[in-house]
Amino acid sequence: MKPHCACSPRQQEIGEIRRLNHRKGNLKHRRRLPIDVQMKRQPPVDLSEQDLRQENIMLRGLLQTLGQDASHNHQVLARFQEREISLLSAGDLVTLLQRLTDGMRTSFALDGVRLLLLDPFHVIHDLLVDSPDADARLIRNLELCTDVHATLARFHDLHAPWLGPWIDESHRPLFGRRLGGSVALLPLRQAGGLTGFLCLGSRDAQRFPPDQATDFLAHLASVAAVCLENAVNRERLRLAGLTDSLTGLYNRRHLRHRLEQEVTRAQRYGQRLSCLFVDADHFKGINDRYGHAVGDQVLTVLAQRLRSRLRTSDLATRYGGEEFAVLLPQTDLRSAHNLAQEIGAGIAASPLVLAGGEVVTVTVSVGVASLPADDRRDPREAGEALLQAADAAAYGAKMAGRNCVVCADAE
Ligand code: GH3
Ligand code: MG
Ligand code: MG
Repeated sequence: MKPHCACSPRQQEIGEIRRLNHRKGNLKHRRRLPIDVQMKRQPPVDLSEQDLRQENIMLRGLLQTLGQDASHNHQVLARFQEREISLLSAGDLVTLLQRLTDGMRTSFALDGVRLLLLDPFHVIHDLLVDSPDADARLIRNLELCTDVHATLARFHDLHAPWLGPWIDESHRPLFGRRLGGSVALLPLRQAGGLTGFLCLGSRDAQRFPPDQATDFLAHLASVAAVCLENAVNRERLRLAGLTDSLTGLYNRRHLRHRLEQEVTRAQRYGQRLSCLFVDADHFKGINDRYGHAVGDQVLTVLAQRLRSRLRTSDLATRYGGEEFAVLLPQTDLRSAHNLAQEIGAGIAASPLVLAGGEVVTVTVSVGVASLPADDRRDPREAGEALLQAADAAAYGAKMAGRNCVVCADAE
């Protein structure tokens, strides 16, 4: 009879397999060694009843552990799938970015999430700059990197997720603050190459141990990268229909949309909203004298000058031909009038120097109007009336001799 304290060869084997499984990490979705298959390959062993009983107990325990693992894996998988579906169903770029940052943080109970996107040509920056929904919170969690090489140098692995303990000198700049614990850095790759990194941080040092399996995280990163590519392309297409190709300003179509939004906001919060209508003087004469191509350049420089005088919350648009309309939220008639005078005087005072070396003097006539205080009209109707009042005031400026500013009667 065998001594009871000694393990049977099969028990030793099971113990070894369990040890191996344990060493592979505590992420339970790592595929385990196929115990049964391996055991079947072994030659039959002559076992006592006692051995069999012990083995039976051990196998039951193993089965129970596997059952618990399977249930845990199911929950983890469900959480990942839920997040992926939410990314896939994001209707626009800003929503997607919010779901990739704040959404990830809450859904995975993390302490910090930072999304770094490679944006060497400022494409994403330009898409977001005029988006009223891109709030400060999103901007804090997002880093648009123009220097691609410098960004890549900050990461340990550019091909697969990197998991490990918090390293203050490299992770603090990524997250913008100290978290401690552990981090997961997921490269976002699409067909065109690397597009950024999703950085997940937890104060729990055990949350992202280096030996943890990364299959789910890698899958999530792939879905995120594809969603980002689609959202950026969709947004670029949408914007192409809303911008003027010559000056890069928004067009009249977008103005109508924003006008309604801004009037609604002004009415709701009791804020002032003003509008400038800017018309280049004797523009036909510029075309006649210098040619249409130079006229085009003059319009582009005028647009740049206008834009440079505005706040990010203002909206400059090319209304048509040589006419521009500008929306000034939270601005009363008096401030709008001052701004219009600054703009007009600035344009008249410094002639435009064009790419070909020509120096062209141009002036503008500006009409100014404000939404009446306590306006309660339908936003669309009130917006149209505001625009018409500014247009009529610009006509008044023409009648007054051009190169001047006229205010619509304050209501
Ligand atoms: P006013 O001082 O009364 O505004 O005179 P104006 O010549 O500026 O106005 P008018 O409406 O007579 O002419 C506008 C000119 O603007 C005519 C048109 O050819 C020119 N124009 C409109 N769009 C463009 C454009 O995209 N490029 C160029 N080069 N010219 C344009
Ligand atoms: Mg005109
Ligand atoms: Mg004109």
